[in-house]
Amino acid sequence: MSTKKKFPTRCVHEGEIKDTMYQGIVSPLFMSTTYPWFGGDAEKKPYPRYFNTPNQEFLSKKIASLENGEKALIFTSGMAAISTSIMANVRSGDHVIFQEDLYGGTRNFIKTEFDKYGIEYSFTKGLESEDFKNEIKDNTVGIYVETPSNPLLKIVDLKSVSSIAKQNSIWTMIDNTFASPVNQNPIDHGIDIVIHSATKYLGGHSDISAGAVVSTEENINLILNSAKNFGGNLSDYTVWLLERSMKTLFIRVREQTNNAKLLAKMLDENSNISKVYYPGLESHPSHEIAKNQMKGFGAMMSFDLNKDIDVYKFLKNLKVIKPGMSLAGVETTVNFPMKTSHGLLTQDERDNQGIGNKLIRLSVGIESYEDLYNDLDQAIKNSSE
Ligand SMILES: *Cc1c(COP(=O)(O)O)cnc(C)c1O
Repeated sequence: MSTKKKFPTRCVHEGEIKDTMYQGIVSPLFMSTTYPWFGGDAEKKPYPRYFNTPNQEFLSKKIASLENGEKALIFTSGMAAISTSIMANVRSGDHVIFQEDLYGGTRNFIKTEFDKYGIEYSFTKGLESEDFKNEIKDNTVGIYVETPSNPLLKIVDLKSVSSIAKQNSIWTMIDNTFASPVNQNPIDHGIDIVIHSATKYLGGHSDISAGAVVSTEENINLILNSAKNFGGNLSDYTVWLLERSMKTLFIRVREQTNNAKLLAKMLDENSNISKVYYPGLESHPSHEIAKNQMKGFGAMMSFDLNKDIDVYKFLKNLKVIKPGMSLAGVETTVNFPMKTSHGLLTQDERDNQGIGNKLIRLSVGIESYEDLYNDLDQAIKNSSE
């Protein structure tokens, strides 16, 4: 009989530190930055920047387990996890393929850093398997994807990308932030390295900055070699807070996902909304792929307001839902990509990417979906131009 507990149980209990002094039920917090170099457990030489203090080591077991990986590392931000994982897996002269739709920070990292180190890259022209195949060159070492993508919730077929990579003996890396481990486990679909901005769902309360990477022990040891040099470790106190947050990961994201599914359907039927982008809708072009690789469709969605609706009036009229640049907290937030994440692009670039002037991104929280729908509906009704 397998001893691996079910997902919700692992969210609560995996990687707990036993309180051997007082038998308290919560993991103790060890804040020491120095440990003995002889006697005791001297062989381990815990040190925060070695990513091996007790709280880092134990919480990384929980994160690895929830992604069905062997080992994990915890970072101070999602970008620290992304930049360190990529830099550990490339050298000058290598070429990496990135999907066209990428988180802005990741795109910026590639565009500002790669040239300095002589690393080549290309962005795909679309998200079909052929689009990835077309970019493979003799010096390609890896493929980096992000699905569902921001802000249009486009889907990449993980099995087909991982099989292309395996045929070419190159690595695959995914930013799994939007789905969270509750809704998608990419390692099960053949992806090698899974990254999270734990600032989002893993933290879930809009009050922690953190990141994580999960893979095989071999891959994580390779990333660790670079991580020690770049030094993006998370403070043990925040590691401990992240553990507390992650105990409720399953129930939070399950509720957020259920809310999103109901809201997407209701918004899709609202005559003041011209289009809803959500992989759970049957009308989504990649609904079938999403169904095959996701356990749930996630809690992020976007929609286009009708032409005659004033976006700023709409945003001002919202009473329950708050404007928020970031996402994934227990509170529902709205973002206006044209003015925020994609504000620096030209109108042409936005048009090419399908980022319309009435596009609203919604991060669905755990409030009652009825209150959320009513709030959106009344705000729309009172926002004609
Ligand atoms: C927020 C985010 C990141 C970056 O994470 P930080 O914790 O802000 O560094 C990366 N990818 C996605 C999809 C994100 O939403």
